[in-house]
Amino acid sequence: MRWACYTGINSDKQVAHLQLSSSRVETAVRLHVLRLTVDAQPFSMIAAALLALTLLMHSPWPAVAGWWGCMLCAQLCYRQLLLRLLQPDRIGQSLSQRDFLCFCGATLLISLLWSCAPWWLVADNDPLYMMLVLLWLAAVAAAYAAYFFSVRPLFYLALLVLVLSAMLKLLLSGVPVLYLAALSCLLYGMALVVVIWPLHRIIRDSFVARDENAALLNELGAQQQQLEAVNLQLEEQGRLLDEALVKVEELVAHDPLTGALSRRAILLQGERLLEQASLAGQPFCLAMLDLDHFKSINDGFGHLVGDEVLRQTCLLLGAELRASDSLGRYGGEEFMLLLSGAELAQAQPRLEQMRLRLQQHDWSDLTRQQPVTVSIGLVAWQAGLDLPQLIRRADDLLYVAKRAGRNRVMVEQTAALAEKGRA
Ligand code: GH3
Ligand code: MG
Ligand code: MG
Repeated sequence: MRWACYTGINSDKQVAHLQLSSSRVETAVRLHVLRLTVDAQPFSMIAAALLALTLLMHSPWPAVAGWWGCMLCAQLCYRQLLLRLLQPDRIGQSLSQRDFLCFCGATLLISLLWSCAPWWLVADNDPLYMMLVLLWLAAVAAAYAAYFFSVRPLFYLALLVLVLSAMLKLLLSGVPVLYLAALSCLLYGMALVVVIWPLHRIIRDSFVARDENAALLNELGAQQQQLEAVNLQLEEQGRLLDEALVKVEELVAHDPLTGALSRRAILLQGERLLEQASLAGQPFCLAMLDLDHFKSINDGFGHLVGDEVLRQTCLLLGAELRASDSLGRYGGEEFMLLLSGAELAQAQPRLEQMRLRLQQHDWSDLTRQQPVTVSIGLVAWQAGLDLPQLIRRADDLLYVAKRAGRNRVMVEQTAALAEKGRA
């Protein structure tokens, strides 16, 4: 917006902007001064008490008690006033002009009480005690400079009250050395003004900057909280997604009707075993199983009974499986069985046992008199064969078993005999 000052364009807006920012600065400064004063005020009470205590060694106690009593009452009222002015419901984000003038008036009253100290406590103009009180007042003036110089009129008034009162007392004392002290007072007051003059703008800006920093920090905190809430939501959604993914993987890997592995999953397992066999020489056997005359079960008792037969077949086969075995539904009423770590000699009797289990199962509830049997083609892994070749061989053996009369386990050694017998 700075260019507007030079060109005259938007000058109204520029003035409004400047006014707005200067009132904002004023508000920030006043609130800071008020808060600083509240913090510093207990020290002022302690300082007054210490001065009174020190002067008890010199002045009559009623005078000391009188000054300190007035100061104590004034300080307590001052504190109450400051706290009331700073009540959140009263000030909101700013401080009214009336409240601020109240604060200035009360501050001037306190400085007036401080300026009474030389008159009240060193009535006999004793140079030593007078210097002591002046030192105290110098400290009070320095404190006023530190706390109030961002509000120049208040500081000058308070300083004027302190310096003029002290000088007057010193000049009226009739003690030559105290005339010099009066001059020192004047120089001290001027030095304070000269030192703090250039700091005025800096400190006011720093108050505003502090307010802006606090507002930014608040905003940052709120955004951080929002971010944390969003992160939590994301984490929760991520967790739900992971759970859903596990369920989907579970669904994809299993046949919904029988619970056996899906065709994809059993083929993957086959590839894995083949890899282990090729790399580490670990043997495995592959069997293709096909229910005999399953179509007639469907035709005779309906597809729902057919489904139930498929389910129970898998349960019966599953009861014979070991942890290293995998059973998958290859399609329709055909299943593929992988026996990891097994040689043909170990696999064949196990498959015989499975076949027998199906045959001996009581199916009468489902198929009345019709038996449920399975034909099986069984091959062992041989180096150099890939998975489709192994499956084709097992399939061929399965169909030899079908042709040989079904309900049997066919391996390569028995296949030749079976085919010869048929011929
Ligand atoms: P074979 O002894 O020669 O194997 O005779 P089959 O009747 O078992 O063989 P075929 O291939 O003629 O019939 C298989 C039947 O399996 C046909 C199909 O309707 C049925 N089938 C395939 N999948 C399902 C299924 O999920 N549920 C039911 N109930 N039937 C199925
Ligand atoms: Mg079939
Ligand atoms: Mg069949």
